[in-house]
Amino acid sequence: MPSAAHLKLFNSLTRQLEGFTPVHEGEARVYSCGPTVYNYQHVGNMRAYVFADTLGRVLSWKGFSLTHVINITDVGHLTSDADAGDDKMEKAAAAQGKSAWDIARHYQEVFEADLARLNVRQPAHPRATDYVDAMIEWGKAIEEKHCYRLDSGLYFDISTVPEYGRLARASTDDGEGRIDTVEGKRHQADFAIWRKTPEGETRQMEWDSPWGKGAPGWHIECSVMSAQLLGHPFDIHTGGIDHREIHHPNEIAQNQAHGCSADSGARIWMHNNFLVDRRGKMSKSSGEFLVLQTLVDRGFHPLAYRMMCLQAHYRSELEFSWEGLAAAFTRLKRMVMAVERHKARLAQKGEEQIEKPLEGWTYMEALDELGGALRPILVRFEEAVSEDLNTSVALTELEELLSLKKMDPQETLLALAAMDAVLGLDLLTLERADLRVRPKDAEITEAEIEDALERRKAARAEKDFATSDAIRDELAAKGVEVMDGDPLGWDWRLKID
Ligand code: AMP
Ligand code: ZN
Repeated sequence: MPSAAHLKLFNSLTRQLEGFTPVHEGEARVYSCGPTVYNYQHVGNMRAYVFADTLGRVLSWKGFSLTHVINITDVGHLTSDADAGDDKMEKAAAAQGKSAWDIARHYQEVFEADLARLNVRQPAHPRATDYVDAMIEWGKAIEEKHCYRLDSGLYFDISTVPEYGRLARASTDDGEGRIDTVEGKRHQADFAIWRKTPEGETRQMEWDSPWGKGAPGWHIECSVMSAQLLGHPFDIHTGGIDHREIHHPNEIAQNQAHGCSADSGARIWMHNNFLVDRRGKMSKSSGEFLVLQTLVDRGFHPLAYRMMCLQAHYRSELEFSWEGLAAAFTRLKRMVMAVERHKARLAQKGEEQIEKPLEGWTYMEALDELGGALRPILVRFEEAVSEDLNTSVALTELEELLSLKKMDPQETLLALAAMDAVLGLDLLTLERADLRVRPKDAEITEAEIEDALERRKAARAEKDFATSDAIRDELAAKGVEVMDGDPLGWDWRLKID
């Protein structure tokens, strides 16, 4: 039986920590709202998936058989939360001279590559466009009791379900950001199930329906895909905190309309807070935004960003800064170097590392393997992640483990592997060389740097400080800072401005 006993998660529905009890014994089913693939995902968006992945990893680690879905919104999302405005996908297609389908495929590929770079395990990524028939069926099933038709499409009447908006803690008409731009809606918060293509226009993405040619509203896809892929009710639904206000209340309303009225579709709704910068929430509409590749271009390993996310609690705002990212990167480097030392001790003893199980360690398996001395650290680590995914405390437990010098290296590495199964930092396989990411605009190759450093070392050995200083200046001119006496023993780094 999985060790669910004390996994506590913050449920946005009740605004309380709740013990996790799965709907289906031994299983965990999780749905995370995925990206709208009309543009690149910024690093704020990626925080949402690092969070969802950490949750999934904790559930697997505790022995649940996990089914995780992150859907791909490749249709039906407008430029505002109101049901009017341009279709984002069609707008991007027009701007780039490509078909809406090509746009969606391209950005989906980039998204998936970014997930891989952040070690987000790859769950199922169903596309909304493959579920349009099912969305139409859902609309037909709820139309009579819960919807009304307007010239512009089919709308959901929020007064037909009990306690609309309880997730947002908002009364019927005062949800944030509601703009009554659709003529004829009965309540401001009513939303589109189907958006009819206006007379005389054609969309690249449109389908026949009982309400005319058009495209589905955004919210319906998540109700339909979560029901089909996970069954209602399922265990946990995740998303960014903005979804707590409109998208998820609307999903819940649709689920209530389709099934039993007390059923919100998922038992636990969890929301990550925003990544912010000095201007506020990082968002695509604000124009400039940071993508993972920008971080890599400036010399950061993608997992430095994962570390940055794990250092904060997912329910707290996290402010992005280059200094903060550099600090997270340094922390990752220190860990990698400590692991190197334990590996070296193991090699000295002529031993091989214990093979990790194919699916990665679970908590119980690791506990069974571990001798006495390291067990308390693993237990404390487990307690931290069980307290609503307190990864920042979990990281300090991991550092505590790495700092213990006299332990059997075999056991240390085993405990480390077990912890990293949750954190996903690749600590057993990352090497120093992997972390030396060359910025895009660097004017010098690593081989040239190493060569210059060798020459400098030789000069210093001969007390030829003039040559040594000249080499140092040469390197500095090319953006490489030589770090004599660097406590990390890193020798050099590329300058970050
Ligand atoms: P979107 O593609 O806009 O639907 O966003 C994808 C996911 O990223 C959703 O779960 C959003 O709630 C989340 N999200 C958007 N902006 C941020 C941000 N600045 N920080 C954290 N999560 C965000
Ligand atoms: Zn969704």
